[in-house]
Amino acid sequence: MRYQNSYAQLDPRLYHKQPPSALNNPRAGHFNSQVAEQLGWSTDQELMERWVEIVGGEYVPEGFEPLAMAYAGHQFGQWAGQLGDGRGLLMAQVIDYNEQRQDLHLKGIGLTPYSRMGDGRAVLRSTIREYLCGHALTQLGIPSSNALGFVVSDTRVRRERMEAGAALMRVADSHIRLGHVEWIASFAPDLLGEFTDYMIDTYYPECRESEIPVLAFLQAVVARTARMIADWQLIGFAHGVLNTDNLSITGSTLDFGPFGFMERFNPAWINNHSDHTGRYAYQNQPAIGHWNLNVWLPHFMRLDGVTRETLSDCLAPYEATFMQHYQQGLCQKLGLPHRSESLSVAFEWLTLLEDNLLDYTNSFRALLGLLAPEDYPYEHQLLTTMTAELSPEAQQVWQDWSARYISLIESSKLAEAQATMQAHNPVYVLRNSMAQRAITAAEQGQFEEVDRVFTLLAHPYQVQDIATELDTLPPDPHAPQMPISCSS
Ligand code: AMP
Ligand code: MG
Ligand code: MG
Repeated sequence: MRYQNSYAQLDPRLYHKQPPSALNNPRAGHFNSQVAEQLGWSTDQELMERWVEIVGGEYVPEGFEPLAMAYAGHQFGQWAGQLGDGRGLLMAQVIDYNEQRQDLHLKGIGLTPYSRMGDGRAVLRSTIREYLCGHALTQLGIPSSNALGFVVSDTRVRRERMEAGAALMRVADSHIRLGHVEWIASFAPDLLGEFTDYMIDTYYPECRESEIPVLAFLQAVVARTARMIADWQLIGFAHGVLNTDNLSITGSTLDFGPFGFMERFNPAWINNHSDHTGRYAYQNQPAIGHWNLNVWLPHFMRLDGVTRETLSDCLAPYEATFMQHYQQGLCQKLGLPHRSESLSVAFEWLTLLEDNLLDYTNSFRALLGLLAPEDYPYEHQLLTTMTAELSPEAQQVWQDWSARYISLIESSKLAEAQATMQAHNPVYVLRNSMAQRAITAAEQGQFEEVDRVFTLLAHPYQVQDIATELDTLPPDPHAPQMPISCSS
């Protein structure tokens, strides 16, 4: 691997260097060979042979330089002060095969100076959820952290019950969060200039060409955050804990706790059981992204060339960037050109989904079965299932809507529309029930289901033989929601 541990060269107030505290008897959970190849991990025999020891914290290879990062954050709208890597360590930074910088970050690996009341550990349940979700989003084409692999162990961890301790080797283009800047502003303000230079040179080098690089950098962070959240809305992803310490400066999805993928469509859906006010409900994510950036940006006023006015100019395009990306994506999901009549049909479609609690993923995909039933037998079956759920009045609404929708698709462009829809409407997303079945088996020592779900989610836009009916089955609309809390 080509190591480039640049974070470890920064001012020592920003981190604490320490080795991991090993788990007891770590054993392989799952390994992502594609990520191993991307990193250059797979060309190193020692890393391949000893990956379980490395992820279990028993062995630190040469070239690694483990450290816990300090950061702060706003949690649920309140200033939370110092946080930091309380159970994870930045192990190494490498340049991957695409000449892209990647952080290797080991999560669940013991106490650090930032652990506060925590035990420094992660349980198998949440480790599997994070592992599968990073993979799912990456394969869906959404910027996200991913992982090299995870291990399970004999270390026991107390949550609501006793659970198996696990560790995840997370891989992300950056682990710098908005909260890093908040920490510096509060605890080491003299470092802000140096740290901003580091962020620009490392992650946004193209901004050096602008007249005021800091402003170009801040504009770029705003734009990337807006686009990432638009991607989430389009795929039906709800992060669940959108605190400033969980937002990366690269606009890449980070920190999977009580996340969820939308099933029966309800924009007010709260996937995090601990989020009593619904601050992080699905439909609030775009506004929360703006809220987070708005508390973050003023810290940069300490720097030359940055004023309150220039900062509002940086933030102002957030909404338009989000809207442009979201609306264009919505039109692509329907195979329609991006224009106003397509959008009104799109919003009526979302209303139809909401009014009838239809499954978000399956319903979009079912439209391929409406346009070309012979070419898309699986999707045609989805359509049959979907319309069977409609009341007689809703049947009428559907008939009217689908006729109008079909009339917007030019027959000469039908093949093009189908290709676009197929590329933007997944067949498979990581449903909570799907993750739960993999977890239940893994807690019995069986990892075949993790592997099967992993394989399924590797090609989310293709119908696959290894799928079962359960993989695409939405929950009973009258059943209580599966509780997914912050406990991890
Ligand atoms: P999260 O809610 O997972 O984004 O974490 C918020 C903060 O709590 C971060 O600083 C984490 O490192 C820390 N944290 C979460 N769980 C633990 C734990 N079990 N032990 C130590 N720190 C933790
Ligand atoms: Mg976090
Ligand atoms: Mg976390």
